[in-house]
Amino acid sequence: MVKIFSFAPEEKATQCLNIYIAEKGWKSMGDIVIDAQDIYDCVFYPVCEFRLINDANLGYENGEKILGKTIITDKLILIDSSISPHTNDRRYPMTLAHEMGHAFLHTERDLYLQYIPSKHHINEMEHDLNELHADSFAETLIAHPDLLRYRFDQQYKTCNIFSYNGPDFYFINEGKEHIPTLKDFSLRLAKPLTKYFSNIPVETMAEILQNFCFIIDKTVKPKQRCMGEYMNQDWKSKAMFKNVK
Ligand SMILES: [Zn+2]
Repeated sequence: MVKIFSFAPEEKATQCLNIYIAEKGWKSMGDIVIDAQDIYDCVFYPVCEFRLINDANLGYENGEKILGKTIITDKLILIDSSISPHTNDRRYPMTLAHEMGHAFLHTERDLYLQYIPSKHHINEMEHDLNELHADSFAETLIAHPDLLRYRFDQQYKTCNIFSYNGPDFYFINEGKEHIPTLKDFSLRLAKPLTKYFSNIPVETMAEILQNFCFIIDKTVKPKQRCMGEYMNQDWKSKAMFKNVK
């Protein structure tokens, strides 16, 4: 049976960020730089007391490397040594955030939760519900839409949504650039932003920009465009940042 949570994963992640921001003493949006490891150290461990082992050997499942695992009953998060912090693998922050999501959200279930990269894809609705929740938590924790909006506007001096209209020249800041595909367009806009968001891979940031509708693909029908429609998510109205301008 699927457990219905009394809160959205996004709301839980926002609460977590509020504690983090208060802990760091940040007063404005421009001060905030997200660091998943630091969130674990400052907020997650003191609250949840899940120990973190980030040089585990998690092996493979169906030929795919397992990057993270949460064992609820042992209060343990395991991260595979192939992406441990000293490797500087950019998948580490998202994997850690995903596992923190399981630990925050799924504490009442005796679960054996594994993270397999190819299953981590926000557009695949056949994904197990627990995984979707952990993904939503991780995405919001690492790249909260309000923080992303702030950095995006700051970077591109705009409050507008960028539209992709097919291969063309696009004005980005002062320059005019030829951009062939939607993927190139998303990667181009995503690249300068990752440094504020735990140095996640630029591909992940590009995907988030599309999911949160910062980039709209005008070459497809409106219905196919956007999963997130973040402007309309009702959790946002009750989960805004406190004490930060
Ligand atoms: Zn998972």
